[in-house]
Amino acid sequence: MRSIQHWIGGVPVAGGDALPVYDPATGRTLAEVPLGREAEVDAAVAAAAEAFASWQDVPVTGRARIMFAFRDLLERHEDDLARIITAEHGKVLDDARGEIVRGREVVEFACGIPQLLKGDYSDQVSTGVDAFSFRQPLGVCAGIVPFNFPVMVPLWMHPIAIACGNAFVLKPSEQVPSAANLIAELYADAGLPAGVFNVLHGDGGTAAALTAHPGVAAVSFVGSTPVARRVHRAASESGKRVQALGGAKNHAVVLPDADLDHAADQITAAAYGSAGQRCMAISVVVAVGESADPLVQRLADRARAIKVGAGADPASEMGPVISPAARTRVAGHVEAAGRDGAAVLVDGRDLPGPGFFVGPCLLDRVTPAMAAYREEIFGPVLLVLRAATPDEAVAVINANPYGNGTAVFTRSGEAARRFQREVHVGMIGVNVPVPVPMAFHSFGGWKSSLFGDTHMHGPEGVRFYTRAKAVTTRWPSSSAPSAPPELAFPTAD
Ligand code: NAD
Repeated sequence: MRSIQHWIGGVPVAGGDALPVYDPATGRTLAEVPLGREAEVDAAVAAAAEAFASWQDVPVTGRARIMFAFRDLLERHEDDLARIITAEHGKVLDDARGEIVRGREVVEFACGIPQLLKGDYSDQVSTGVDAFSFRQPLGVCAGIVPFNFPVMVPLWMHPIAIACGNAFVLKPSEQVPSAANLIAELYADAGLPAGVFNVLHGDGGTAAALTAHPGVAAVSFVGSTPVARRVHRAASESGKRVQALGGAKNHAVVLPDADLDHAADQITAAAYGSAGQRCMAISVVVAVGESADPLVQRLADRARAIKVGAGADPASEMGPVISPAARTRVAGHVEAAGRDGAAVLVDGRDLPGPGFFVGPCLLDRVTPAMAAYREEIFGPVLLVLRAATPDEAVAVINANPYGNGTAVFTRSGEAARRFQREVHVGMIGVNVPVPVPMAFHSFGGWKSSLFGDTHMHGPEGVRFYTRAKAVTTRWPSSSAPSAPPELAFPTAD
């Protein structure tokens, strides 16, 4: 049995209690992951704090050069990382490569850190007085991440935090822990000093201890909404900066004028890619007016044609879900929705084991009152609601507690513009089903999909991992007579 180790202060560190890590395609145990407890949490934060003391003073060009080297190593090790992702998560290899590329783009953004950290300067704000502002790193930043993107979601966080001059402690998902160790090795090979990037393995208890640790300045969290809410509250109460991204229920609205073949292709990919285990997966279609019947027919045909199998098999288009518990949750929702009056048009519940497989499921005539609609299923289940008008479709989305992503399919620029202005959602696609912003924009939802003020990566990521200083300077002439003291509040005049 392979024992995964923490990575603290630039070296592997063995742990104590451990959990099994499974291959979801076979159900076999691949390794065991240690559960970091108080001693390991303290050690990881202490190593990061010590490294921060000198890392913050490394010139910004030097930090950028390490990011360039890390970026190249990520590219060179893309296949190694993809194999690790597929083995522990189950997604197909092409999908795993896709998340690595999207994560690498954040590193490419971080390579531009000298430009991103340039401050502002105002000359002569008063006679002989200049003003400037600049941003400095926070200290030790923590990242707590979900199982569904073992490489990309952490890459939303640590390259930017580190390029800004912080040290980082990553708590990977206990279900997909191994990729983080290879990332740590790549950082070391890129020349990052020991302790600037640390991997602390563990479960919710480990993450809660890290969140509460007084040596941590900021917490970035991505995961389910109940945990995001808890992490946001705990970090805020202990005076930390926090961004906590939660779950989702993403709607695609199909208007009657849409190209229905295009919409069905795009929605099928967005609903069933990665077995629906993406925070930006489309899980609900709102079919407007007469689009409904022909669209549902097309979606059913496409769902039935998807090839489900092990992620490492090049013939597979969709892999298993992450765990037996996830499979049970998916099956329970399909069962309950059928009982509540939904039409189960495609039913993927009967796939044989031994892996944790569920095939694509398509449910028509769903209503907002059904549990399958109200709760995040996080599996290969697509729900269809029917709406009479575009306004009714937007009202459905706006009444939903989540607000991560959404998409509209239409040929009308006017309808699309109205949709993008009126919908209460953070990331919007127009004929684009998975509108994950590029690395140089920022990623974040609204409502119960994000707690905190700043989105991740892009300009908002730089802002999150730094704080501002404003400096006002006067260099009085040594030859001029000194002015008498003025007790009135200083103004520029
Ligand atoms: P999860 O909430 O169960 O776990 C996420 C992380 O939190 C894990 O590292 C876990 O160990 C840790 N954790 C668990 N309990 C904790 C606690 N009490 N305190 C602190 N940390 C704790 O989520 P998951 O099942 O790994 O991932 C799926 C969820 O993540 C879905 O809800 C999905 O929508 C969401 N997600 C959201 C985004 C986004 O950008 N909004 C992106 C990816 C995934």
